[in-house]
Amino acid sequence: MIILSIIVLLPNIYYVFYGKHSILSALLLLILSGLFFILPAIFLKKRIFFIVQGLIVLFAPLEAAHIYLNRSPATSAFLLSIIDTNQDESFELLSAIKFPIIIAILFFAFYFFIAFTKISNTYFFQSTKIKLISLLVFIGMIVTGYSIGYNKKIYPYDMILRTSQVFVAKEEINKGKEIMKNFKFDAVKNDSIDERELYVFVIGETGRYSSYSINGYKRNTSPMLAETKNLISYADFDSEANITTSSLPIILTRASAWDYKRSYVEKSFVDAFKEAGFKTYWIADQSANNKFIRRIAGDTDKECFHIVNFTDTTNLDEQLWPSLDKILARNDRKALIVLHILGSHFRYNYRYPPQFEVFKPSLKGAFDYALISAKNKELFVNTYDNSVLYTDYFLAKTIQKIDSLRAVSALVYVADHGENLFDTKENIVFHGGSDFTRYDLHVPFFVWTSDEYNRQYPLKAENLEQNKDKKLSAHHIFYSMLDIANITFPGQVLSNSIASETLQADSVRYLINTNMEVEKGF
Ligand SMILES: [Zn+2]
Repeated sequence: MIILSIIVLLPNIYYVFYGKHSILSALLLLILSGLFFILPAIFLKKRIFFIVQGLIVLFAPLEAAHIYLNRSPATSAFLLSIIDTNQDESFELLSAIKFPIIIAILFFAFYFFIAFTKISNTYFFQSTKIKLISLLVFIGMIVTGYSIGYNKKIYPYDMILRTSQVFVAKEEINKGKEIMKNFKFDAVKNDSIDERELYVFVIGETGRYSSYSINGYKRNTSPMLAETKNLISYADFDSEANITTSSLPIILTRASAWDYKRSYVEKSFVDAFKEAGFKTYWIADQSANNKFIRRIAGDTDKECFHIVNFTDTTNLDEQLWPSLDKILARNDRKALIVLHILGSHFRYNYRYPPQFEVFKPSLKGAFDYALISAKNKELFVNTYDNSVLYTDYFLAKTIQKIDSLRAVSALVYVADHGENLFDTKENIVFHGGSDFTRYDLHVPFFVWTSDEYNRQYPLKAENLEQNKDKKLSAHHIFYSMLDIANITFPGQVLSNSIASETLQADSVRYLINTNMEVEKGF
């Protein structure tokens, strides 16, 4: 019985020793895990008890994998990525840890063999009085544990809670679809200028503000953007989530971290551009399995998804240019084009061609996951920096293409979230953990405008420049994009627009964490 109990409690024991917490909370966690574990023993016969607990063992590898990657129990975002089997970062990371399936099967077989053959089918407690007293004691202790939030950390109750949250959210999104069908912003263009107007919105991936030389990084990672005329880099812009799937709805809709469910029922600024008479386009080499994205892209005038393979160098962002060129050749009088790029998506070494391998030594191929260690920080940083150098090239060249059309135009670039590269003393790497850092959230945010734009909208151009040091976050994007294009709608709030002189900086920034809870940011 002791061996079986230890097996059931393995994820908890692993978390107590490997997770991030003080000795006191480790001790509390251990005691509470034990209590939660023993609770069913009051009512169940021994063998049934271990068989029921054995079902929990089947899901232990998932919990253990998340603890291994993030030093914290499985989050809603992680479970959602498994349920949806989407090509999200956490899923990619999970699938990369090839859990030795044969060992797992042997392990489960051993567990159930012992449970069936060695455990007698009698009750732990015979007397009803003892049962009742222990039940009361347990309830008291568990209520205490629950009230201080430990229920969210104790396996398997944490996973049951998170999984049910995922299904509730999916249900809400499904219900929202019906409301969204009839949703309208009543957006209109504020003027009727004759010039050709072209707006480009680039959604970057895994961008670290501090890794761009244009933002003061010591390495020359953004030489081409530094030479680009009329380009503004915003100094203090944070994403409102540290994972792609949660961040994109806040960037594209009126939702914010504290008002996230709005993205279930309202459309995006891309839809608002269409209402205002613009042709809209979506060109991407990622997020093909993201239903939120596919709805928006599917409602544009044309969507182009180019996904070759995430896990080799056939998916370079420049493959989007032929589609972009074709769309530009259509000569639409008013158009909005969204480019959703792979940027610095893990694995960084697959994001750039050989001539961008400037910072060495760098990571090679589908590297061994045993390399994920702070002692390899230099390798990670070098490879990441090479991917920034390539994004610099991609963005600057895209701006040159747009600029050559001599249209009234603007290009806005923002990364969905940042990345950790062993920056803090906890040596966090990647993003999407339940403990976020500023490196997860502080992202590069660039706005470029053409000379023609600056002549047409001099006040907006001046405001864009004036607002570049203000404290901003992802919910500003929606209002800003429409205002930059001089589109208005009844719900417009100009104090959220970077093109407005009335822009209000954030006093407090919020974010939505990987368990879909609102927290204060930086
Ligand atoms: Zn992302």
